[in-house]
Amino acid sequence: MLGDTDGFLQGAQRERLRPRKERSAERYTATVVWMGMKMDNVLKRLLALLIAAACIFALCACGGTADGENAADEPEHDAEEVRRAVKPEEPEKIWPGPDVKLTEYDGVVEHLFFHPVIAYPEVAFRGDYMEKGLDDWMLTVSEYRAILDRLYENGYVIVDIGDVWGEEMASDGSTVMVRKTLMLPEGKKPLVISYDDVNYYEYMREYGFTYKLIVKDGEVWSWGLDPQGKEVVSQDLDAITILDKFVDEHPDFSMYGVKGCIALTGYEGILGYRTQTTTEGLTAEQEKQRQEEIKAVRPVIDALKENGWYFGSHTWGHIDLSGYEVDGVSEDTGRWKDEVASLVGDTPYLFYPHGARPDGDDLDQTGSVLRYLYDQGFRVFFSVGIESFSRIKDDIPAVIVDRLHPDGTTLRWSRDRYMRFYDAKDVFDYGHRPDLGRDW
Ligand SMILES: [Zn+2]
Repeated sequence: MLGDTDGFLQGAQRERLRPRKERSAERYTATVVWMGMKMDNVLKRLLALLIAAACIFALCACGGTADGENAADEPEHDAEEVRRAVKPEEPEKIWPGPDVKLTEYDGVVEHLFFHPVIAYPEVAFRGDYMEKGLDDWMLTVSEYRAILDRLYENGYVIVDIGDVWGEEMASDGSTVMVRKTLMLPEGKKPLVISYDDVNYYEYMREYGFTYKLIVKDGEVWSWGLDPQGKEVVSQDLDAITILDKFVDEHPDFSMYGVKGCIALTGYEGILGYRTQTTTEGLTAEQEKQRQEEIKAVRPVIDALKENGWYFGSHTWGHIDLSGYEVDGVSEDTGRWKDEVASLVGDTPYLFYPHGARPDGDDLDQTGSVLRYLYDQGFRVFFSVGIESFSRIKDDIPAVIVDRLHPDGTTLRWSRDRYMRFYDAKDVFDYGHRPDLGRDW
C-alpha cells in the first residue's frame, strides 16, 4: 500500500507542522568561507576531468573500501566530477559553450523533487483505495511535461548539487563545507532537480506507471505494458526519459548536460530490476535470477551517468529516520551500500524518506543518527518543505536542505507558492484527475 511502503504523507504533514522560523532561505551564505580559486570554465572542466581520473584510479586500486573508511577525512566523492569524466565526447551538445558569458550567482538555488510520473492516468485514477494517495503525491505525464516547459520559459537552468556545495580544506587543515561559486549565464536561475523512489515498485506496475528503464541504441528508454497489456518502449512516458529528451531539445535548460539526482531505495531493487536480497535468504535459483537482474541493470546505470544523471540514497528500506536509533539505521545503511552503492557508486547525498529528519528534527545539534550517517560519507541531507531552504551546519561540515514538491497536493492547494515556477492552472490535468477540490 502506498501509505505503508512508500507513504509520502508524512512529509507533507511535517511541512504544515514545522515552525516557520526554521525556513528562512539561504541564511548560511553570509558565513560561508570560500577557499577555492576562481577558475575560468575551461580550466575548471579540465581540472574536473583530472580529478575524476584520479578518483577512478583510486577506486580500482582499493577494490572497494570498508564502510567505516568513507569518513570525514576521506576526499569528498563528487558525483558531478565523475559524471563529467564518463560523459561521451559530444562537444556540440554541451551547453554553455565558450561563447556564453558566465557570471557569479549567489542567490537561492531552487530545488524541486518529483516522484515517478503516471504514464496512464486512467489506470491510476480508477476510483479505488489508491486513488487519493496517487493524486496527492504524483504528477501525470502531461503535467510533468507542462511543468518542464514552464520552468524553461521562466529562465531556470538545471545545475548539479556538486556545483552548489562542496568540501574544502581550511587553513588549519580541517574540512569545511562551503557554498561554491556558481557560474551561470546571465539571466538564468539555478535549479536542482531530484527524483525519489525511481525503483519501479511492484505496486506502481499495477497503477499506470512504467516498469523499468532500459537501454536501446545507447539511449535510455522506459519499458512497460499499456492498459491493454501490450509492450511499450517509449521516451514519452517516464520522468527520466522525458527530461533526457527535453534537454536534448533545449540544451540551455541544463548546465553541461546535467540532469537530476536519482534517489534510490533498495528493498525492491533499483530502476526496475529486482536486485535486492531478503533477510530469509535466497534459494540458489533466486540468487541466480538476482545476478541476472544485476547484470541487466549495469548498462542502464552507465547510460544514465553518461546522460548526466547521478545518484543519492533514499535508504534501503524507505525508513522513517525520525523513528530509528543508530543500530537500525546502521543495518539499513549497510544493506544500501551492499545492494545499491555497489551498483551505482557511493554518494554524499541522502534523501530522507517521508522527509523525516532524524534526531528529533533538531537543525542545530547533530544527534547520534545524523553523526552516524555523516561518518558513512553522507554530506547533504534533503528533506521536504515549503521553500528551497538550506543551511550549512555549524558543528559538522554538512548541509541540510528542504525541497519543494510539485505534485497533486501543491497543484491543488499551493498554487501561489509555486507561481515563480509555473501556474497550476496551466498545468493541472483536468481530464484525468479526480474531483478532489482545489483552492483556485
Ligand atoms: Zn520516497
